[in-house]
Amino acid sequence: MREFAVKKMTDEDKPRSEAIRSALPDRGWLRRIPKIDLHVHLDGSLRPRLIWDILERNGGNPFSSLLELEKRLRVSDEVADLAGYLRIFDFVLAYLQQPDDIERAAFELAEDSSAEKIRYLEVRFSPILHLQAAPVAEIVAGALRGLKKAEETFPIRAALILSCIREKNPESSLEVVRSALHFREEGVVGIDLAGNETEFPGYPHRAAFDRAAEQGLNITIHAGEARGAASIREALEILHARRVGHGLSLTDDPALLERFVKESIPLEVCLTTNVHTKSVKSFSEHPLKFFLAGGLKVTLNTDDRLMSGITLTDEFFRAQSYLGLGKNDIGLMLRNAAEAAFLPEDEKRLFQADFLEELDPYLPIPEGTDGDRR
Ligand SMILES: [Zn+2]
Repeated sequence: MREFAVKKMTDEDKPRSEAIRSALPDRGWLRRIPKIDLHVHLDGSLRPRLIWDILERNGGNPFSSLLELEKRLRVSDEVADLAGYLRIFDFVLAYLQQPDDIERAAFELAEDSSAEKIRYLEVRFSPILHLQAAPVAEIVAGALRGLKKAEETFPIRAALILSCIREKNPESSLEVVRSALHFREEGVVGIDLAGNETEFPGYPHRAAFDRAAEQGLNITIHAGEARGAASIREALEILHARRVGHGLSLTDDPALLERFVKESIPLEVCLTTNVHTKSVKSFSEHPLKFFLAGGLKVTLNTDDRLMSGITLTDEFFRAQSYLGLGKNDIGLMLRNAAEAAFLPEDEKRLFQADFLEELDPYLPIPEGTDGDRR
């Protein structure tokens, strides 16, 4: 005779219910956990109020309200691709030129990040796009002052990455590298290559990246966002990338994907901006979950808080809502980020220990570990 009694929950069922609970989107939990953002652009993440104040100072502010200005700075449905998205930056760059304004932008970005419990922040920007009022050294010093002041005011560690720009002269990339080397003791932890990937390959800038690699500078490259996997290969094989920003086209190249897994090359995924630049069709079609399942060292980052109107909490919330990522997936991405930080090795180990100590109590206990999360 078959039994129809309602089955009581046994210990065996508990991990499953824990797994279900931990997979539900939970904004409150996301707000509470300590976080790391490794990929965020200064000129893409400032407060609209800063541009407003600059416009007022210059005289002739064409906007009738802060809201109207904010709308001008946000991505719209008309943006068709990465190049279109990057055109919004031209507006910001026309005004963000004074070292003191750059200092304020950096301070406020770190303040906003700290407010959502980001404990470590790697801010990137390209000093060569801010040369209307001051030379490279003063521009970089301004950004570093802002981050330093934020570190003294809020519980956050903030470092700087200097970006070379694909569409600029290769000589300007050498200048970025020289500046990164000059300021490496004061908070510059690496260099990057950003800009219009569709039309501008990275190899013309290889002399700058050769020099950076020779000098032991950390290198990350935006690649595989708007072009195929060959662009990612170029980042690794010609430009000495240690981390890759986006890497979406890894889905087209299983051998390259395998290399990322084998060599534990961190990927800086930016879910929301990938949708806004039309690099992926929708949130639910983003390969983030596929990358995680494949064993890639994935991190999740904001990219452009201003243009995309997001926080890191939003970014994780979308990963939970659209892709069904659980709390342990998010914990894993944050652990990956702590490991992938460009801090000097000894500082990184100290930071990592503190960060994991703060993070671990928030994570569900994985199955079969008898409560020991480590
Ligand atoms: Zn980026």
